[in-house]
Amino acid sequence: MLLTLRTTHRPATDLGYLLGKHPQRVQRFALSFGEAHVFFPEADEGACTAALLLDLDPLALVASARRRGGGPLTQYVNDRPYVASSLLSVAISRVLGSALGGRCRERPELATTPLPLEASLAALPLRDGGEALLRGLFEPLGYAVEATPTLLDPAFPGWGTSAHHRVTLRSRTTLSELLGHLYVLVPVLDDEKHYWVGDDEVDKLLAKGAGWLERHPLRATIAARYLKRQRGLARDALARLAPEDGARDENEPEEALEAPLSLNARRVDAVIEVLREAGAERVIDLGCGEGTLLRALLADRRFTHIAGMDVSPRALERAAKRLRLDGLAPRQRARLELFQGSLTYRDARLAGHDAACLIEVLEHVDEARLPAVEEVVFGGARPGLVVLTTPNREYNVRFEGLGAGERRHPDHRFEWSRAELATWAEGVAGRRGYGVRFAGIGDADPEVGPPTQMAIFEREAAS
Ligand code: SAH
Repeated sequence: MLLTLRTTHRPATDLGYLLGKHPQRVQRFALSFGEAHVFFPEADEGACTAALLLDLDPLALVASARRRGGGPLTQYVNDRPYVASSLLSVAISRVLGSALGGRCRERPELATTPLPLEASLAALPLRDGGEALLRGLFEPLGYAVEATPTLLDPAFPGWGTSAHHRVTLRSRTTLSELLGHLYVLVPVLDDEKHYWVGDDEVDKLLAKGAGWLERHPLRATIAARYLKRQRGLARDALARLAPEDGARDENEPEEALEAPLSLNARRVDAVIEVLREAGAERVIDLGCGEGTLLRALLADRRFTHIAGMDVSPRALERAAKRLRLDGLAPRQRARLELFQGSLTYRDARLAGHDAACLIEVLEHVDEARLPAVEEVVFGGARPGLVVLTTPNREYNVRFEGLGAGERRHPDHRFEWSRAELATWAEGVAGRRGYGVRFAGIGDADPEVGPPTQMAIFEREAAS
């Protein structure tokens, strides 16, 4: 399996800095499923090519093929070692991780500069309709796409061509973007559901897709095909190849279920819309998690003061990283404050905001603690506007792969029907001097309603 990356940016040998690999050296990396080699077939001022060659260990792969129930022959004779697949993504993130993340110690400015880049994949499996899908995936992102079918056997052209294509993608883009596109889209193209190896796959899809996936015309296809891999077979491979990762996989079920609906993005859009309509400027996100909403708030200058609070220091750390707090210009940095706290303890820092958001947080709190949350949010903080979202339990029957009566996430203490949310929210509103209205997020099902429900509380003028 071979990926080459080429640039004609001058001096082209900067590619070595960008990849953090020396053009004069051949480097070898051990991976759980084989080895990766990085070398530079050409490296001069005018053009430079880096090659990432994966040398897979067929025995490591066979063990997991056997569990998938493939026939005896398919276990040993298959295209896995040769074609670009999810394993390439794993290798990209392990071997070219800093370039993928847009980091470059020696030439930081290069990492954010669009360069003329060309990526070639020696063998990409494109079965029926595959070339159309290839174009549909890469062309909207600005790539010129070339796909040439390979001969089954160059010695016998009469045997015809195989499903495997040599694919070249050209664009002026940053290396980090190019690698991110490959990371997500190569496994989407390879429809075999093999060997997804890694932790937090859904997280990764969302992180690597940040900035483009939410706008991609085929985002639903991308998410569905990417995440199909996540289930069942992928878990087998995880257990076989990286047992400790398999365990962590359990933490992401909710996003895995919901991602094909792009619920995360839709929730953020819906909440921002409510905040804008209300003219909120000082906004606090309670249970901000890794900062999905904070990022959208930062991008909009009308939000002059933004605070994020979460009970989990780890989530806050990840939020700080994802928002690149350290790299923000001082004026931007001054708009944002992150702190650790809990929704169940009164806290003076929660006061003084126009609006508070509780996005997919309430269901993580024990029902017995809800009166405390009510007191903290509607008694102590008491902002003019409270926007709250939570799963609509009725919709759960529409999620394939969620057993009857199961919740979307093991940490959910409850999930409410629309009537249950209304009962609680109207009670709170009545006791605390707020008005409340309800809305749905995501495509509503005629029977069971929308996947996510939202309650919007506005403080009454007199109170
Ligand atoms: N609002 C974010 C995160 C939702 S996940 C988003 O929409 O992406 C739920 C979050 O609530 C987690 O980050 C968890 O740490 C946080 N949380 C759970 N109980 C909490 C509490 N009592 N106080 C504050 N945050 C809490």
